Amino acid sequence: MTLKLILTGANMSDCIFCKIVEGEIPSDKIYEDETFLAFLDIHPVNPGHTLVIPKKHYPDILDAPAPVLCDLLQVVKKVAAAVQKGTEVQGFNLGVNNGRVAGQIVPHLHFHIMPRREGDGYKLWQGRPYQAGEAADISEKIRKAI
Ligand code: AMP
Ligand code: ZN
Repeated sequence: MTLKLILTGANMSDCIFCKIVEGEIPSDKIYEDETFLAFLDIHPVNPGHTLVIPKKHYPDILDAPAPVLCDLLQVVKKVAAAVQKGTEVQGFNLGVNNGRVAGQIVPHLHFHIMPRREGDGYKLWQGRPYQAGEAADISEKIRKAI
């Protein structure tokens, strides 16, 4: 725990999103309140791709307390509705990359709101069927971990 706190503290000082919160790095702000900030992703999947973050540094979703996540989701909903309306799209993907192996590059919790257009060329991830017994095995492991 102590080690994690030390590492988290060390990360904050060179965290891009903390710098955006502090105004040290510019951003195209979409929404801001005391606790949360939404701004345009600099490398959008589609125009209007927006990131929503807590201003406080939490490396990922598992580090953030549940009440923060509840409030964050309300902001995500509010901003997502505005992204959909403002970009005149009919849908959007929400994304949270959690952990480096899952594609998280910036270790400051963030939700992606990605507006989707008909024919924009993006495909959803391809699933694969379970092998015999695999679903029972993995579901048991997950249940035990709760
Ligand atoms: P992730 O892979 O989930 O960690 O996504 C990080 C996102 O942050 C990427 O989509 C980047 O394009 C975006 N990003 C990185 N630096 C900035 C920045 N300075 N301003 C806005 N978005 C950024
Ligand atoms: Zn940060």
